[in-house]
Amino acid sequence: MKLLENRTAVVTGGAQGLGYAIARAFADAGADVVIGDLDGEAAAAAASSLDIGDRAIGVACDVVNLDQVEHLCATAVERFGSLDVMVNNAGITRDASMRKMSEEQFDQVIAVHLRGTWNGLRTASGFMRDQPEGGSIINVSSIAGKVGNLGQTNYSAAKAGIVGMTKAAAKEVGFKNVRVNAIQPGFINTPMTAAMRPDLIEAKLADTPLGRAGEPSEIASAVTFLASDMASYITGVVLEIAGGRHI
Ligand code: NAP
Repeated sequence: MKLLENRTAVVTGGAQGLGYAIARAFADAGADVVIGDLDGEAAAAAASSLDIGDRAIGVACDVVNLDQVEHLCATAVERFGSLDVMVNNAGITRDASMRKMSEEQFDQVIAVHLRGTWNGLRTASGFMRDQPEGGSIINVSSIAGKVGNLGQTNYSAAKAGIVGMTKAAAKEVGFKNVRVNAIQPGFINTPMTAAMRPDLIEAKLADTPLGRAGEPSEIASAVTFLASDMASYITGVVLEIAGGRHI
């Protein structure tokens, strides 16, 4: 029996990067997978590339829009019969020093990360609390939410907010066997980090005991663990996956 067999998992922002790696790991672990992303065609293409046939689908979903998140989760339940794992992964950056950051840049990042995660958390836990077996929700924070990143007052605030939200929600829905955890990745090779300045990348790696960037698959394996019954007594934790950075 595979780790996530007979489970249905939804991953937001799953068309590329960490979300896609998580969707792939879930598929490999036997789950039915629903990929939500801004671009519905990209989500469908990502789902079909998982090579598990009609056990993976893609759905257009802007996580900032509660109706669309409800549609995403309802589609998972209608199509596969349950919603067992929810990964609130969708994210953006709009970096600038505070002097140069516009209100719009601040609001966009807060909306996608905080409102988006809350939309997913609220909707998924609503389905999961009605299932006898409960469910597992994983929120994607960042090491930036622990230490703060230069040029990312918006992003660091949002990622720290996800930590508080995770712990509050874990207390609220634990009695229904719904577990809520967060991960804090460090520097991981994805399209989001590909555009960073080489000197900044070098500085981050110099501060990383394992001495290298992480790979999306290394995030995905930890998320698969948290999603599975292997983590059945773990809730409200924040798991750093950062090669030892900022310990
Ligand atoms: P990525 O490669 O840019 O992928 C993010 C995905 O989310 C994209 O497909 C993007 O679509 C989608 N997305 C953006 N806004 C959305 C919205 N409103 N609704 C639905 N989907 C949306 O980024 P990543 O590096 O994989 O990051 C994934 C998550 O990990 C983010 O929450 C990020 O903050 C977090 N994280 C990443 C790192 C890292 O080093 N990479 C470290 C710590 C935390 P578009 O491409 O169409 O915009």
